[in-house]
Amino acid sequence: MHIQTIGIVGAGQMGNGIAHVMSLAGYDVMLNDISEDALSKAMDLMRGNMSRQVGRGKITEADMDAALARIKTTVTLSDLGPSDLIIEAATERETVKQAIFEDLLPHLKPETILTSNTSSISITRLASRTDRPERFMGFHFMNPVPVMQLVELIRGIATNEETFAACKEVVDRLEKTAASAEDFPAFIVNRILMPMINEAVYTLYEGVGSVQSIDSSLKLGANHPMGPLELADFIGLDTCLAIMNVLHDGLADTKYRPCPLLTKYVEAGWLGRKSQRGFYDYRGDVPVPTR
Ligand code: NAD
Repeated sequence: MHIQTIGIVGAGQMGNGIAHVMSLAGYDVMLNDISEDALSKAMDLMRGNMSRQVGRGKITEADMDAALARIKTTVTLSDLGPSDLIIEAATERETVKQAIFEDLLPHLKPETILTSNTSSISITRLASRTDRPERFMGFHFMNPVPVMQLVELIRGIATNEETFAACKEVVDRLEKTAASAEDFPAFIVNRILMPMINEAVYTLYEGVGSVQSIDSSLKLGANHPMGPLELADFIGLDTCLAIMNVLHDGLADTKYRPCPLLTKYVEAGWLGRKSQRGFYDYRGDVPVPTR
C-alpha cells in the first residue's frame, strides 16, 4: 500500500506538528480545520518552527520552502477525499471524532487508511462506527511532534496487518520510532506517565512536599528532564484530568482516582501554561509556584 497523500483533520497543537513532520518527509498534506483562523495560525507556526530549524542547520531553506509548498489547507472536509491516509487530530471529544469520520467516509477511496491521534479514546469503538474497522488504527504522536521521537501505533481489535505495516512505514520515513500498543485505556505512555503525575499531585495535596521540592526531587533524584508538576502544566491540567478519568472509568481500579487537588485546579480554570496558571504562575518573567 503506497502512501503519498495525507489528510490531517484538526490544525491545533498536534495537527500542525503532524503536518510539519509529514511535509518535511516528502508527503503531500491536506490540512483541515473548522476554523480558518486555526489554519492560518498553523501555517504561521509551521513557517516559524521550520525557520528555527533552518537557523539551527537541521534543514535547508530549500527543504523548508518545498515542505511548505506541499501543504494545502481547507475548511471543507470532503477535500480530503483523495488521501491515502487520514490522521484525525481534532478536539479530544468522542462525538466530535465520530462525526468527522461519518462525514468523511463517503468521500474516501475504499483503500484509504483511517487513524486517530487520540490520547485516550478507544480505537476499537471509533473503528466500529466506520465501514472499515480493519483499516483503522491509532497513530499517537507526542507533543511537540517535531521534537519527540516516539509514535505509539495502536491496533484496534479488527486492525489488519497490512494497515499496521503501512503506518509503520510512515513512522520509519519520518525517522521516528514506533511503539506498538494494544487498545486499552491511555495505551502505554499515558498509562504510565499520568499515574506518576497524579501521584505527584497527591504528594503536594498531602503536604509531603511543595511544588518546588517535588519537581526538583524528580529532576535531581530520578534524572527527569522536567519535574512532574512542571510537565503537567505543559501538557494541560484538563488533559491530565481527562486521561485519569479514562483510566479510572476504563480499568475500574481505584488506584487511578484523580487527585481532588487536580480537579480543583481544573475547576478554577488553572489549566497550566495555556491559561498562564497551574502549579506555577507564568504571568511574570519567571514561573512562580502557586503552592
Ligand atoms: P487543540 O485544541 O490544540 O486542536 C484541536 C483542533 O481541532 C482545533 O484547531 C479545532 O478547531 C479543531 N477541530 C475541532 N472540531 C473539528 C472538526 N469537526 N473538524 C476539523 N477540526 C476540528 O488540541 P490538540 O492538543 O492538538 O489535540 C488534538 C488531538 O491530539 C486530541 O485527540 C488529543 O487527545 C491528541 N493529543 C494531544 C496531545 C497534547 O499533548 N496536546 C498529545 C498527543 C495527542
